[in-house]
Amino acid sequence: MAEIRVEHLRKAFESFVAVEDSTFTVADGEFFVMLGPSGCGKTTTLRMIAGLELPTSGTILLGGEDVTFKRARERDIAFVFQLFALYPHMNVRANIAFPLKCEGLPGAEIGARVEEAARILRISHLLDRSVSGLSSGDRQRVALGRSIVRKPLAFLMDEPLGALDTELREAMIHELRALHDRLGATTVYVTHDQLEAMAMADKIAVMNRGIIEQFGAPRDIYDRPASLFVADFIGQPSMNLIDFRASLAPGASELALGGARVAMPELRMGCPERDLVLGVRPEGVRLDDASPLRGEVFGAEYLGTTQIVTVTTAHGAVRARLPASLKVNAGEPVGLSFRPEKLSIFDRASGRALP
Ligand code: ATP
Repeated sequence: MAEIRVEHLRKAFESFVAVEDSTFTVADGEFFVMLGPSGCGKTTTLRMIAGLELPTSGTILLGGEDVTFKRARERDIAFVFQLFALYPHMNVRANIAFPLKCEGLPGAEIGARVEEAARILRISHLLDRSVSGLSSGDRQRVALGRSIVRKPLAFLMDEPLGALDTELREAMIHELRALHDRLGATTVYVTHDQLEAMAMADKIAVMNRGIIEQFGAPRDIYDRPASLFVADFIGQPSMNLIDFRASLAPGASELALGGARVAMPELRMGCPERDLVLGVRPEGVRLDDASPLRGEVFGAEYLGTTQIVTVTTAHGAVRARLPASLKVNAGEPVGLSFRPEKLSIFDRASGRALP
């Protein structure tokens, strides 16, 4: 079992708190992504799990064992920093074998394990090649080979695809996920790129300023953002956020926006009058001539099969994802309606979604 459990983890660098009271569990075999903007504390969390940074307080359990104060090399974890860092004077076989040689394993076992890693990564034909002549994709595979050959309990990866161009990155996203499915090893992956996170993760923790804002499956995070930060950070283009003021009764399934009644998923709890924010994904916005919610087309961004149409309204600009075949003209008056299932309501002051 290689479950990773992090309990009330905190890290302060003098008076600056980089990670605040972080608690989460990565199940055995899960691909877990820590996602957030630069400086939110992802790397610091990962380094604490790896044993490269000592927590200020809190506990880290690996497979049920408390490893909080164990050194990095005493934890059965592979930390993949930079997939490009290979030894240029060694061939592919020697690069992959390197960590096992350091461990002092017998030659025959090293040979067998290197062959196995190469087979999993489909680079057996490259084993005797020099690494200097390899394509970027193959270099990444060799670097991955060096990590998986140790058969660690878990992999920790810090923006491993950050330095790649878009095309190779997309290919490697699928390759890493497929590799994970073949190996089934618990993986913690850090990125600031939501597309990487969405494509690879079983579970995502969205971090902001040292705090985990939301923890869940990619779809839940996209469909039910727990906070304004998550709503704004996840999705391209991001969720439309419209300020309004209202009191909402428990069980309310409708709200008033200007003269328009907007249907929404039923609220479990209401709230007294206060500043609220209506969040709706661009794909939840429709053009609807009959709607009293009026606006004027500002412009459209063509995306192939869809287009993002920006409509200016009395409540600010609203973006709608519409079929590219739909003809819209700048300056055209339109009505807007929202798909209720694509709506969230947030409390402006706390930034949290209303349940
Ligand atoms: P990035 O993607 O830019 O690496 P991140 O989310 O991984 O961002 P961290 O590297 O964990 O963020 O850093 C979190 C905060 O802690 C940052 O403000 C950083 O400046 C600070 N920090 C990290 N390491 C140290 C250190 N050794 N001493 C002081 N401050 C640090």
